[in-house]
Amino acid sequence: MQRTLSSMRIDRQDVATAPWTELLSSSIHSAADLARFLPVDARSIEPVIKRYPMRINPYYLSLIEARHDPIWIQAVPDAKELTFSAGGPDPCNEGEQMPVPGLIHRYPDRVVLTAGSQCGVFCRHCMRKRAVGRSAAFTIDDLAGAAAYIARRSTIREVIISGGDPLLHSDATLTQLLKRLRAIAHVEILRVHTRVLCTLPQRITPALADVLSRFHPLYVNTQFNHPREITPAAARACDLLTRSGIPLGCQTVLLKGVNDDPQTIKELMRSLLRIRVKPYYIHHPDPVAGTDHLRVPVSTGLRIMQSLRGFTSGMAVPQYMIDLPGGGGKVPLLPEYVKKIEKDRIVVSSYEGKRYEYPLK
Ligand SMILES: *Cc1c(COP(=O)(O)O)cnc(C)c1O
Repeated sequence: MQRTLSSMRIDRQDVATAPWTELLSSSIHSAADLARFLPVDARSIEPVIKRYPMRINPYYLSLIEARHDPIWIQAVPDAKELTFSAGGPDPCNEGEQMPVPGLIHRYPDRVVLTAGSQCGVFCRHCMRKRAVGRSAAFTIDDLAGAAAYIARRSTIREVIISGGDPLLHSDATLTQLLKRLRAIAHVEILRVHTRVLCTLPQRITPALADVLSRFHPLYVNTQFNHPREITPAAARACDLLTRSGIPLGCQTVLLKGVNDDPQTIKELMRSLLRIRVKPYYIHHPDPVAGTDHLRVPVSTGLRIMQSLRGFTSGMAVPQYMIDLPGGGGKVPLLPEYVKKIEKDRIVVSSYEGKRYEYPLK
């Protein structure tokens, strides 16, 4: 059973250029199949898959180099997913902030449309673990209620299309969806949240880039969590989108054993800038049931933020966010630079930790 990774019958060159539909249909969903490629204990992960489905496509699988490496941790089920967790299935209360099915309305001027529940890989740290990979195929009619809700409220000026991964839909379905949203005059900005740039970059075809570019201003935010995810295939996918006028942002999730140290994050942020992806957020992991073993203390995140500011380009410094329990919204956390506020001056710490005084005005 102890198979070595070198026996994996996956050729990186082949998977890098295969059509995305083929990669998706040859994804691994069962413990027995996974054991053909990786040294896993199939019996211990079978019950995990029953509760939280697995999908690892051959491209993302090919990035795994060693047992429990940063790619493995994000994709391979772990028996710890079933042990007791302090969190719940939906700690940010998304379910309660859905005025109509599929639409989360928390903030005054923007909404999240959960367009489908499929993804290129079912990430083990997923914040929507409760739902992803479960429901059947989605049709555009499922979103009629959401579109009507947005159309009735002129305060909504941005629609974030999330999921699941919305880019797992066909070009034709996406065109229909984007057309419907663009037909609402007060929707100024469309934002697509997708992880395919990282987990299934072959999905970004010239035809898809063309579809998306017809609905500007349209932004794409993605999620890279480790420098090794930035492959030539991923870089090419990002390039196709940026050349189509789509600004790219990254929402990295801080994860134990994946990127919870200053060096990895710094390298990741710099690598993102090289492929013209702007680091937008580092998310502190939400207390989602089944992800306890991947969570890190807030102090780790703050230490990482402190290691970025000043030591590397300000362009490479995202905001570090926590998402408040019960749907309170996102809040940025900053290392404490202001040490004291006095009557006529403040005492601050420089990025190197030196003490400075600065006049109040
Ligand atoms: C994160 C989130 C948004 C988007 O927030 P930004 O700070 O604009 O990126 C919108 N709605 C919900 C429910 C969210 O969780």
